Amino acid sequence: MLNLESEIRRLETNGIDMLHFDVMDGAFVDNITYGLPILEGVRRATGMTLDVHLMIADPLRYAERFAKAGADIISFHAESSSDISDTIKAIRKSGAKPALAIKPATPAEAVYPYLEMLNMVLVMTVEPGFGGQSFIPETADKVRLIRNRISELGLDTDLEVDGGINADTAGTVINAGANVLVSGSYLFRADDMSEAAGLLRKG
Ligand code: ZN
Repeated sequence: MLNLESEIRRLETNGIDMLHFDVMDGAFVDNITYGLPILEGVRRATGMTLDVHLMIADPLRYAERFAKAGADIISFHAESSSDISDTIKAIRKSGAKPALAIKPATPAEAVYPYLEMLNMVLVMTVEPGFGGQSFIPETADKVRLIRNRISELGLDTDLEVDGGINADTAGTVINAGANVLVSGSYLFRADDMSEAAGLLRKG
């Protein structure tokens, strides 16, 4: 964390497409990470697409502030206390792209009513709250259901997976229809980040 700027340079020089920024509030999940001032600093440091994942209890209250702080994409949880449609609209109005996230126990159907309003759906492939967890295999079925629904509706919605993604699990989620892969521990611990990212892309 205290070498954030040099770590961001590593992402840039190793051809990573986006920077995924996990915000946890100690209420929606049992952990606290960081918030607006750090995001503003990251925004000043890089031109990378900033994919902000809000694991917070009331995302509607903060959506505009995260957009102003530099988020390009804002994901929030269907399980949060905010009204889903209102939050999607608030994110769009503030200039960011809205994405709806669901936890492993939440059914695929929870996102169906909102697909036409969203740029992306985020399927959590571990329980949100901590990094370094193992991929939950059953979540791939949900990715497949949502990808089928997106295709049936003729949309080009991105489908992101987050949690336990590495060279062993990437193939499963790509085959299921995911096209945005979040990877933390696997990439940052790799000896060669560029090669590790290439293995993820290959699935
Ligand atoms: Zn995340």
